[in-house]
This record gives sequence, structure tokens and C-alpha cells, in this order.
Amino acid sequence: MLNIVLFGPPGSGKGTQSEKIIEKYKLIHISTGDLLREQVAAQSELGLKAKEIMDRGELVSDNIVIGMIRSKLEEHQDGPGFIFDGFPRTVEQARELRKALTDYDEHVGVMISLEVPREELVKRLLKRGEECGRSDDRLDTINNRIDVYNQQTMPVTYYYDKMRKHASVDGIGSINEIFERIVEVIDKKK
Ligand code: ADP
Repeated sequence: MLNIVLFGPPGSGKGTQSEKIIEKYKLIHISTGDLLREQVAAQSELGLKAKEIMDRGELVSDNIVIGMIRSKLEEHQDGPGFIFDGFPRTVEQARELRKALTDYDEHVGVMISLEVPREELVKRLLKRGEECGRSDDRLDTINNRIDVYNQQTMPVTYYYDKMRKHASVDGIGSINEIFERIVEVIDKKK
């Protein structure tokens, strides 16, 4: 299996690049943001709770997210591998991912972080808000999401640094240019 963590702040292009990575490497895509939005759309109890938290730009509890990940791993345990998008977002989630993968004798091969400056992130997310109407793409929520990323999520890079699994990729450029940089990192790891 090839398991990749695609990491980076909100608006760094994880979703866009995930689509291209899946196409090329035939991996199973797990986006905790998408899984949570499915629950919101279905108006489940979990979804109703999650919506409030997401609209504030805060993080949904580790337990909820880890539960969703574990059930996806179980569902696709014989697959070609996973791309984790928007997860892990806390060091606790990273530890739990390691444990969950170990249960299947698997591990994260590489964690790729997309580097994009704050002004560019805000610009991209405001544009997405206008185009797609995602309820968390408004200026106050965007600013809070980036602050939460810097405080709670950035430390995840040190976790993978220590295991020598962290690779930074410049997230500025055309979609194809950025994708080529990612492919180079993945092919070196394979
Ligand atoms: P973005 O990367 O643009 O913030 P996501 O779709 O990854 O978009 O996440 C949207 C929201 O969903 C987050 O702001 C957060 O509230 C929630 N969320 C997604 N993934 C996680 C996670 N791994 N842990 C906690 N909350 C999460």
C-alpha cells in the first residue's frame, strides 16, 4: 500500500491536488472535511453538531474524526492505499492514525505539505466562497481557520519531521506545476 498524507492550510489546494493524485496512483481518497459535510447534508445528529463548529472555523473533536477514519480504513483494507486530505489536523490525530494503520501492518509513506502564504490563502478562499457558497468561506471564519491551523495543526509537521516523512512542496504556481512537484516527491518514496 501507498499511504500519503496531503497537508497544508485551508485553501492550499489539497482537494484539487488530491483529485490528480488519485487519478494517477489510484488511491482511496479520505477527506475528513468531505465526510463531515456529508453528515451536515444528511442532517444527522453528528452533522448538526459539526456544522456549528465548522462554521466557527474550529476543529471537530478528535474522537469523532478518528472514528470516521477507522471505519474508512476497515472498508478499504484491501485497497491500493489511501490519500488523507485534511487529516491529521492535531498531533493526537496523527498518533491515532499511526495506531490505526499499524493494526493493518501499514504506515504513512510520506506527508506532503503544501506551502502557501496567508494573503494568497485568504484570496483563494474568498473566491471559493463566492463560487461554491461553502458556508465557512467567509472572512471571519477564514481568518479563524488559518489561526487554528497555525496553532493546532502546524505541530503535526514536527511529528512527521521526527520520523523523516515530511516533505514541503511550494503550493504557488499552476495546478499542473504543483502536481509535478508532488509527483516527484511521491515517486522518490515509492
Ligand atoms: P479546509 O482545508 O479548507 O479548512 P476542510 O474541508 O478540510 O477544508 O475542513 C473544513 C472544516 O471541517 C474544518 O474547518 C473543521 O471544522 C472540520 N474538519 C475537517 N477535518 C477535520 C479534522 N481532521 N479534525 C477536526 N476537524 C476537521
